[in-house]
Amino acid sequence: MKRSLFLVVIVFVTLLSIAQAQSSSDVPPYKNPSLPVEQRVHDLLGRMTLQEKVAMLSGADWMQSVPNERLGIPSIKMADGPLGIRSWAGPSAETKAEVAGKQIATTAFPAGISVGATWDTELAQSDGQAIGQEVKALGRDMILGPTVNINRTPLWGRNFEGFGEDPYLTGRLAVAYIKGVQSQGVIATVKHFDANNQEFERHRINAVIGERALHEIYFPAFKAAVEEAGVWSVMSAYNKVNGVYCAENHFLLTDVLQKEWGFKGFVVSDWGSTYSTVGTVNAGMDLEMPGGEPMKNWLKRPESQAAGNGGGWLVPEKVVAEISAGKISTATIDDNVGRILRVIFVSGEFDKPDTATGIIDTPEQRAVARTAATESIVLLKNTGDLLPLDPSRIHSVVVLGPNAATARTGGGGSSLVVPKYSITPLKGIQDRAGERVQVSYALGVGMEKEDPGKDSSQAREQFRNEAVKAAAKADVAIIVVGRSPALESEDFDIKSLDLPVGQDELIAAVAKVNKNTVVVINAGGPVIMSKWIAQVPAIVDMWYAGQEGGNAIADILFGDANPSGKLPVTFVKQWKDSPAYGHYPGENLQVDYAEGIYVGYRYFDKSKIEPLFPFGYGLSYTKFDYSDLKISPNPASLGSVEVSLRVRNSGARAGAEVVELYVHDGHASVDRPVQELKGFRRVELAAGEAKTVNFTLDRRATAFYSTAKKSWVTEPGEFDVLVGSSSRDIRLKGSFTLKGEAGLSEVSRVNLSSPAGR
Ligand code: BGC
Repeated sequence: MKRSLFLVVIVFVTLLSIAQAQSSSDVPPYKNPSLPVEQRVHDLLGRMTLQEKVAMLSGADWMQSVPNERLGIPSIKMADGPLGIRSWAGPSAETKAEVAGKQIATTAFPAGISVGATWDTELAQSDGQAIGQEVKALGRDMILGPTVNINRTPLWGRNFEGFGEDPYLTGRLAVAYIKGVQSQGVIATVKHFDANNQEFERHRINAVIGERALHEIYFPAFKAAVEEAGVWSVMSAYNKVNGVYCAENHFLLTDVLQKEWGFKGFVVSDWGSTYSTVGTVNAGMDLEMPGGEPMKNWLKRPESQAAGNGGGWLVPEKVVAEISAGKISTATIDDNVGRILRVIFVSGEFDKPDTATGIIDTPEQRAVARTAATESIVLLKNTGDLLPLDPSRIHSVVVLGPNAATARTGGGGSSLVVPKYSITPLKGIQDRAGERVQVSYALGVGMEKEDPGKDSSQAREQFRNEAVKAAAKADVAIIVVGRSPALESEDFDIKSLDLPVGQDELIAAVAKVNKNTVVVINAGGPVIMSKWIAQVPAIVDMWYAGQEGGNAIADILFGDANPSGKLPVTFVKQWKDSPAYGHYPGENLQVDYAEGIYVGYRYFDKSKIEPLFPFGYGLSYTKFDYSDLKISPNPASLGSVEVSLRVRNSGARAGAEVVELYVHDGHASVDRPVQELKGFRRVELAAGEAKTVNFTLDRRATAFYSTAKKSWVTEPGEFDVLVGSSSRDIRLKGSFTLKGEAGLSEVSRVNLSSPAGR
């Protein structure tokens, strides 16, 4: 009996190993995760028919690519971003976050501009990672973010989505965010390539941009995303750049993205941004979105047609016809499809079961949202140290304004997240103030265009009078003003930099009766403050701070957290001071970027225009001293320079300082900005503590884009190093000299000095 059992086992094991051996030799190479990705791509392409390949070039529906059941190629399931996962139940509700038909509330993280204001790359990475986790938890594979378009004009409706006006800051934060997302095996999509810097006529506008401005201002964040973060997907923009739609722009998608930067992932079109078949496929635009029936129905809508949306050009019948006509080669199809397949393999999507993994709204994700919100808040003014508020010394606070009792977590459009909960500033302040402090509330003014019952001059007067009455009796008045997603959004630009109707009047009236008035700005960018700034002792900018905004602002107002945010954009005194003024929104569907590389502070510095608050500006409840600047040539790497300095917290509270490093090149053969950000570091310091901060400057810190040489060039000579607390508060100054061949320079001499009085 024992013997026969033994024989049965032997036979079974033998059969099993034969079966296994057979099945492993049957497993085609593309299904074998241990083989190199390129081999898998090559193998899979070899097994696909032309029809199957072409079918992958346009989407299956609103948010998914076309799968291939025969070969087991999964569909790429997308989710809108970048400030969390979109759950907007607007006209494009097809994109809302849902699993098995059930809508899921996702975490509303602070806006991109908030992340920009933290200057904290570690935090940007945690933000990306948390968002990546939620994408996976929803069973999706790809997030449509980050947005890295530069704030060219403060009127752009989507300024809140991006990281600010500086290409270096934007690039660093983008790299960190993308690494965070992709660490979860989720595809990040850097968007919108390129120069989607206004919403006005976004489907038709032709942005005319000089080569140097493209390379120095509008490319660097995309370049860094490709070269340093290895981003898996790039979204082409709606607009034209120098006469050619981005989705069919061979220069952008092939010459720059693929050839110059070595991009190996796929390009996805912005939703409804394609206008041709041959040009688009041949330019290297790999995946047209949306597709299928939703695309057809959408394009039929009169609004889509009026807006100038394009689409439906990469559907199989059109592409196959052009292949037959000899206008598109099968090698190009292989290349484009190969790019999509490469990402499906490299991201791990091909090999993982098609199910949702992970959870949404964990304490960790909430904590990331709250830390980001807190770190992003910028203290703009604090006369007489009105802030932080001391609950043991005040008895009453009145909270006013259209954004006090409504949580405005983000701007409008495809990035808007509707979270499970959100903390209003009023709630955050009430919770923090405690029993001893009486917190009251009055609306003060309705939000423009929100509620017709509150949107008349009569209603405004009545609300204002109530607010003034309440403010006159309170120890402190906190007015939360700003915009709403209906006024600041994708799809249209901001009408004016003035605060919405009635808000200036409310602030001015309250400030007259309460000398302890604090204005909190809750908007995606600069607002004009001239009507009341001189009368108000304290101003704080909380941007769009996501679902934890109310807690974050309370932390700052009561001093549980020390403000450490710095402006990622220049605040103008008036619109006509802006670099784009006179060259925006363009004429006859053309916008000329006449300011060239002089965008943001580069323009204000050069034109010697005093901004309201400069780039990099932000106050703290403590003080930081800068000293001991050292600049030393690094012999290990030719042309690279080590910079170090000490920062000391000389006040009585713990706090964080963002140390900013700018470089000036005064000897170049071309005009160069007064200063350009080339390094920054957020440093946490206990009261009295000092730390050494180190920077390594490589060639990128000294080079400019030469249109003559068609490349980045460093010209030997002296470069100034300017280190400070904002672009207009430089505390330490030194220089180094590079000698030798342009581009291969050697550091020869170092000079150090401190601006007088420091
Ligand atoms: C936006 C993109 C977005 C896409 C999908 C477009 O209108 O410009 O940023 O990802 O819609 O919703």
